[in-house]
Amino acid sequence: VSAFAIGLLFVAFSPVAMAGITFSQEFDSGSLDVANTTVNGNQVQLVGRKTWTKTGYPINYADHYRWFYFNAAGVNGQQVDFSMNSTKFLGDLSDHVFVYSYDQVNWHYFDNAGIVGNTYSFSNNTPFTQDSVYVAYSLPYPVSRMTNYVDSIKSNPYVSPTPSASADLIIGQSAGGVDDCGRTVDPQDLYAFKITNPAATGDKTKVVLVGGNHACETLGSFGLEGMLDFLLSGAPAAEELLASAEFYVYPMVNMDGRYAGYYRSTPENSTEDTNRHWGNTTGFNMTQLETIYQAILADLPFDEFLYTGGTDYFLDFHGYFGPWSDPDYYHIINDDPEKTFQNNMAVLLPGIQEKELEIVHGGMAHKWATRDTTLNASCSVVAEFGAHPGTTEADLKEIGALYGLALHHTILEVPEPTTCLSLSILLLLMLFQVARRKIFK
Ligand SMILES: [Zn+2]
Repeated sequence: VSAFAIGLLFVAFSPVAMAGITFSQEFDSGSLDVANTTVNGNQVQLVGRKTWTKTGYPINYADHYRWFYFNAAGVNGQQVDFSMNSTKFLGDLSDHVFVYSYDQVNWHYFDNAGIVGNTYSFSNNTPFTQDSVYVAYSLPYPVSRMTNYVDSIKSNPYVSPTPSASADLIIGQSAGGVDDCGRTVDPQDLYAFKITNPAATGDKTKVVLVGGNHACETLGSFGLEGMLDFLLSGAPAAEELLASAEFYVYPMVNMDGRYAGYYRSTPENSTEDTNRHWGNTTGFNMTQLETIYQAILADLPFDEFLYTGGTDYFLDFHGYFGPWSDPDYYHIINDDPEKTFQNNMAVLLPGIQEKELEIVHGGMAHKWATRDTTLNASCSVVAEFGAHPGTTEADLKEIGALYGLALHHTILEVPEPTTCLSLSILLLLMLFQVARRKIFK
């Protein structure tokens, strides 16, 4: 029997060749309802996992899906058409474009995307060039990226544990659990660390940074990473900022949800939205959230009677789900009558708008942080990052860095926000906006 014949036999009986395209979500942040996803030749009908089991008003969330991140194998040489029911997607897909990658590092936008009737589809103009491809709603930010990042900055002299954290920057563990697909999610270390210049003493402005409140809002995690990169960059503005301010960082609130591919809830409590339960977890089984907000309260105690302690600024990093014809935005609660932070944002990030929240829920992190029973934050921000078609990791991190520069201008009371540095960054950002418009309109 020749090697060729054995090869033929192998191809004929290998399960991948028999089944055509196969799917998997068995990895950090993976999410696809594999059992209900169907393949017909090169036509794939995707179904998302309905991980948030909240029912009723205002819509039946339990009937919707949001986060997608899966592997498709057996695609080499195939021009695959992916489609899904757009009415079951919690968000606006009208001008959205999915991304793909052969290595989970370099991501590309699909060539074609759009909605016809109730069907959203996306495809490329040319066939896939490798057998195995990863496809996601937007740039994924798995748990491992955050833990690797924390590892990479641990020994930086500006980084130290918060008072409630161990020397390894750990405040406790998530509950883990079993997800909706029956997969076990192991309990994970929850991180907290402080960034400041320890050689600069005296009273410092306090800033709290929180990320990953909503498991699927991966773009906010890139924004937070960009802010941290800026703080530790050694740039003159960052050095000035770290001499007069200290940052308390809680990088990923919903680690179990991020790992398990959930979008708002966790395997421990699939019904409740993590960002509606700050200060209110009793009886709800929300271990990671409770561990984190208790650590924040212990790290930055506010004295209600002396009116001392707590934090000055609180920033919570999120992502949103279209439409991309709208600009990125942030929500803010600010005691400052001069609105200095907003004014600096308007100069540094002119493409980003301040937007009113339609409903402010008391259990939202940014609202919770302003109470005088918690942190008494005088400026509390929800930074929303969008998956505009073409947006890269570098773009998102740049925006995060500019939020940092806006804090610098605000805390150091930079009188004219048109210094050389901000002007050059402003120019870069304008070029980026122009390029984006050219490419996608
Ligand atoms: Zn969110």
